[in-house]
Amino acid sequence: MKSLDEYLRDAEQAHGHLCAGQVLGVRMAMLGLEKLGIDDPHGNREDRKRLITFVEIDRCATDAIGVVTGCRLGKRALKFRDWGKMAATFVDVTTGKAIRIAARESSKALARTMHPELESRNQQQMLAYREMAEDDLFATRWVKVEMPAEEFPGYKGERIVCAECGEGINFRREIQRNGRVLCRACAGERYYEPL
Ligand SMILES: [Zn+2]
Ligand SMILES: [Zn+2]
Repeated sequence: MKSLDEYLRDAEQAHGHLCAGQVLGVRMAMLGLEKLGIDDPHGNREDRKRLITFVEIDRCATDAIGVVTGCRLGKRALKFRDWGKMAATFVDVTTGKAIRIAARESSKALARTMHPELESRNQQQMLAYREMAEDDLFATRWVKVEMPAEEFPGYKGERIVCAECGEGINFRREIQRNGRVLCRACAGERYYEPL
């Protein structure tokens, strides 16, 4: 595993700037890997396929988690649950072990008291999140994550065609509705309205 500083450099490059979220994300991912005993997720082929990461927010820290773990959305190794929470779960698919790590709400206030001499909150947090003890920064919990076959990166399944719109659907994301097979949009979960 690289050092915190090395990962922060990588994260800054990938994300476009260095911010408190990067520090939080890098430390969260490093802790997750450490707990699972995965030394280098970018290393050999076996280790690269061991890890799946669930992220619960789409903010700065999410990019940093991707950089450290090597898990990417396009590889199906990064799973996004849009819950607005600064938390992630790291799953070792070879052992089934999984650890969920959440940033403690109290860490923001603690950052202020650690560095009152710094002007901006981002500066306070950026420095404090580097220095803060693990237990002050994060709450960790071993969890069990149900992983059906279609959630794995290498899943090769049948491609289904929606009975309504005719578009193809992968990874068993189709929905049965009154005897018809529909995509999520046609089943009513649309995030857009056709004009
Ligand atoms: Zn940022
Ligand atoms: Zn459809």
